[in-house]
Amino acid sequence: MRDKLVAGNWKMNGNLASNQALLEALISALTPVPGVRCAVCVPFPYLAQAQQALRGSGIAWGAQDLCQFGDGAYTGGVSAAMLADFGCSCVIVGHSERRHVFGENDEVVALKFAQALKAGLVPVLCVGETLAERESGVTEAVVERQLDAVIGASGVATLTGAVVAYEPVWAIGTGKTATPDEAQAVHAFIRGRVSGLNPAVASGLLILYGGSVKAGNAARLFGMPDIDGGLIGGAALDAAEFAAIYRCAQQVT
Ligand code: PEP
Repeated sequence: MRDKLVAGNWKMNGNLASNQALLEALISALTPVPGVRCAVCVPFPYLAQAQQALRGSGIAWGAQDLCQFGDGAYTGGVSAAMLADFGCSCVIVGHSERRHVFGENDEVVALKFAQALKAGLVPVLCVGETLAERESGVTEAVVERQLDAVIGASGVATLTGAVVAYEPVWAIGTGKTATPDEAQAVHAFIRGRVSGLNPAVASGLLILYGGSVKAGNAARLFGMPDIDGGLIGGAALDAAEFAAIYRCAQQVT
């Protein structure tokens, strides 16, 4: 039986005052239970705030990105080692906004994934197709290419220390959610692809769904056999909504 995981992605939102209110509201609204993990991925400048506020709460914290290189002459970069130093347990890698807005390709994503693992962080590897790709019937090919870039560079066994998030680009921040059946089909494809290389890794792999998850649709999504929780964007900025999504994960375990 795999754990569930509900992870929040605050994206580039918040300030010291609003974050403090959100973190405090989260701690009072949500007490993680065994088997249902919870994390929030915050902007770099607020890692120290998350570290301080969440210590001892059972809610893990992480970052939304990292540099593809180790410490050194990379002005503006934030290394995996620095994130680990802040007590991050996870880091989002290859979010669609990084791929499509900042132009990260599969090779860069694979380097970031490897850096995260090397520092002992859990990379949350995001994969997913655009609307045009879905409409032209290449969803599986796109997801396979994104997954294979990482597996090719780091090896399938490294997925044991990672999480995969299937996030269809057309569902992120749009209010359009994949139906539970649509999401399940891609999750099963991902697990099947990994299983073809290493069945034990595949059966333990957490595969999250992300894309306009709300308390109103989370239980049906999380109840699907290959959906192990969610990566939550907009709704993670509302403590009551995020806690309600977390409870949906609890209900289906
Ligand atoms: C995300 O940012 O990863 C995400 C899934 O966003 P939203 O929940 O707002 O669609």
